[in-house]
Amino acid sequence: MLLIDTNTCSGCRLCEKNCPFAAMLIVDEIAVVQDNCTLCGACANVCGEHSITIERAAATPEELAKFKGIFIWAECGESADGESLVPKKVTLELLAEARRLAEKTGEEIRVLVLSDERPVNTDDLFAHGADGVIRFVNKLLWPYSTDAYTTVISAMVAAKKPSIFLLGATPDGRDLGPRVAARLKLGLTADCTQLEINDEGQLIQTRPAFGGNIMASIVTPFSRPQMATVRPNVFAVSENPEIDRKGDIEDFDVALQRGVVRTKILEVEKVGETGGGIENAEVIVAGGQGLNSPDDLDMLRELADELGGTLAGSRPLVEAGWIPHTLQVGQSGITVSPKLYIAVGISGAVQHVVGMNGSGSIIAINNDPEAPIFKVADVGIVGDAAEVIPALIKEIREAKKAA
Ligand SMILES: Cc1cc2nc3c(=O)[nH]c(=O)nc-3n(C[C@H](O)[C@H](O)[C@H](O)COP(=O)(O)OP(=O)(O)OC[C@H]3O[C@@H](n4cnc5c(N)ncnc54)[C@H](O)[C@@H]3O)c2cc1C
Repeated sequence: MLLIDTNTCSGCRLCEKNCPFAAMLIVDEIAVVQDNCTLCGACANVCGEHSITIERAAATPEELAKFKGIFIWAECGESADGESLVPKKVTLELLAEARRLAEKTGEEIRVLVLSDERPVNTDDLFAHGADGVIRFVNKLLWPYSTDAYTTVISAMVAAKKPSIFLLGATPDGRDLGPRVAARLKLGLTADCTQLEINDEGQLIQTRPAFGGNIMASIVTPFSRPQMATVRPNVFAVSENPEIDRKGDIEDFDVALQRGVVRTKILEVEKVGETGGGIENAEVIVAGGQGLNSPDDLDMLRELADELGGTLAGSRPLVEAGWIPHTLQVGQSGITVSPKLYIAVGISGAVQHVVGMNGSGSIIAINNDPEAPIFKVADVGIVGDAAEVIPALIKEIREAKKAA
């Protein structure tokens, strides 16, 4: 329910101008809400007098049953030539998992696609399991901004009433998810690593808690949608996309005012060593505390360069300031699933291993033959990193020359 404090409302018209559905009118200098209000929260967000509040009571089973469908936010990046937008891998991972959940709930999957005027590759979304796309195009939607995306996504979710809404736990997804949840007065389970549907049709959202010592399974019995962000690289992308699969595309009608966006992006600086971020790397060479000094990272970078990969590391290297947090693999860092993961001087603590054990092949280099990392490695090399890495680089260069 939307409440307006008529004693404090100044009739300034900010709510009227910023309502995405033209559902707020100023009558006799007081805001008056119209029947088409979706409770998306855009008016409460801009009200300088804090005169507008949204109250949500626990929903009845009948009210909960009105929410239908699994929605996914399609996080997109630019294509190589910058001419179009391409759904990120995490979106395809969510689609694969949503398909599995949809088989149990019998619901349709809709993907929310926001773009500037460049086209978005929706064929991939349908091929990977989307039944439909809900699209909104506006120049203000590139680059990503918290304000514009929160306004549009909240409006879409409020209007369409899905039962489940999933986002990738990427930097932008971790920014957007809580904003939308707060705007719509919903709960959110962040950083899920497992999703399931229980016998009552509720979404069980599982995530590590208390430093990974327990797995917490969370349900949302009294409100909808059930919202969760999901870690990238936890679910696999479908290996058999149906390239001929088609779905419907609906253009969403919503007003987005320039004044909503309070930030201006001056410059975008890529911090991943390859520019793509370690979550998307096909080859990772990761260093640990077995390295003697930050200078040792140079030989790891050299090895990564030879293999077309990127550098990463364990948490102690981040804490020592040798590498940025964006390169940390593990439970409190990033989950990766490259084709090849080379762990150098890393012991194999559980908090590290949970972030990399989905890798295709794992090579571990460690001078302790009893190091736990060898238990998850496909190939283990017992030796001093300072000797093994230069020897590996030499071998690779010679093999390349001979080829
Ligand atoms: C709540 C919580 C969250 C955490 N999250 C993360 C996380 O996200 N990521 C993460 O990595 N850690 C995380 N940790 C820390 C984790 O528990 C370990 O402490 C950490 O992973 C150890 O890093 P390491 O393997 O580099 O160092 P160490 O455990 O010190 O291992 C160093 C290894 O290098 C080997 N070595 C030494 N000298 C050489 C040499 N010359 N050549 C080759 N090998 C050598 C040693 O035999 C040893 O096995 C977390 C911990 C907690 C409590």
